[in-house]
Amino acid sequence: MEFHDLRAQYKSLKREIDAGIAEVLEKGNYILGHQVSELEQELARDVGIDYCVTCASGTDALNLAMMMWGISKEDAVFVPDFTFFATAGCASNVGARVIPVDIDPDTFTMSPEALEEAIICAEFEGSYRPRLVIAVDLFGQPADYERISKIALKHRMLLLEDAAQGYGSSLNGVNACCFGDAAITSFFPSKPLGCYGDGGAIFVDAQGEYERLLSLRSNGRSLEDKYDNRIIGTNSRLDTLQAAVLLPKLRALRGYELDALNAAARFYTKSLKGFVKTPRVIKGGTSSWAQYCIMLENEEQRNHARYVLQTRDIPSMVYYPRAIHQQAAYADYDYADDLFPNTLAACKRILALPMHPYISREELEKVVTAVKDSLY
Ligand SMILES: *Cc1c(COP(=O)(O)O)cnc(C)c1O
Repeated sequence: MEFHDLRAQYKSLKREIDAGIAEVLEKGNYILGHQVSELEQELARDVGIDYCVTCASGTDALNLAMMMWGISKEDAVFVPDFTFFATAGCASNVGARVIPVDIDPDTFTMSPEALEEAIICAEFEGSYRPRLVIAVDLFGQPADYERISKIALKHRMLLLEDAAQGYGSSLNGVNACCFGDAAITSFFPSKPLGCYGDGGAIFVDAQGEYERLLSLRSNGRSLEDKYDNRIIGTNSRLDTLQAAVLLPKLRALRGYELDALNAAARFYTKSLKGFVKTPRVIKGGTSSWAQYCIMLENEEQRNHARYVLQTRDIPSMVYYPRAIHQQAAYADYDYADDLFPNTLAACKRILALPMHPYISREELEKVVTAVKDSLY
């Protein structure tokens, strides 16, 4: 059994993907070919925002957002304590102070209460200017943007939506990648919308920011004259080959994959409810199920479940075994564990089960039986 079955997806989209790749090879338009701008327009239309700029990875999308806003060493950047490291690393890359925030115990996304407390604390302490909140659409579901955007607004801060795992989800009818002052996503192969290598994108609704991003991803060149550099940028573009792969995959995601993911999640939840803590989606929200994560009673039970699954050839993963505040890279910050009880509990108890649009009923049943058997 596969954890994310990317080959099953390729099999079902092979004709379109192969044709797309062949077209790029025949044209030789490897960098910023027309497929890249086509994809950007389709992505922007798909989520319902004015502009999308693709780049080389989700990490670079975060880095480009930092450059676009000039986030710097005077600034404090608030991130959930429970996320992939890049959410925090991008702020450290530009010298900003990372302030981790605990999560909601049911949805695993940033806790609005903990966020506001952390901002007030930083304002009071005064060493850094609270400048940016990065909320994460963890495991495929949107963070609580209704409350988080109010908090960001009230404290005159920017809000960035890290939708690396959330493409295809929504909250109160608004699609992921439309929340906050900008949003990013990742096309890493196992994300809800993945390519065949690294890739990412940034979403904005202001033309000025859009043009700045186009310049930043091409070493800061001006849009009129490619040898006239007016700002400092980097080289971070999505390969035309990857755009050609993503175009049919985007249609498949909207066409049937999201439905299949939700059907699989419903089956897991119906079968496992009452045995383990099943994931909860925020009220008014939908998930694109980047991960389906259950919570066991404690670390021993979680590790035992992993072991039982493994003996039956069922892959499982722990996202994430370690909080941002526990990373050795941040040892100097000396963050106190007691600010992050929900994150620490999740690190010990969480388990991600096999989840992808092509998973069969038999496979789902096999996973459910193994999880249940592991409890006795
Ligand atoms: C995967 C991921 C990223 C980084 O994306 P890459 O394309 O792997 O660089 C950033 N944030 C979150 C929450 C992610 O899951």
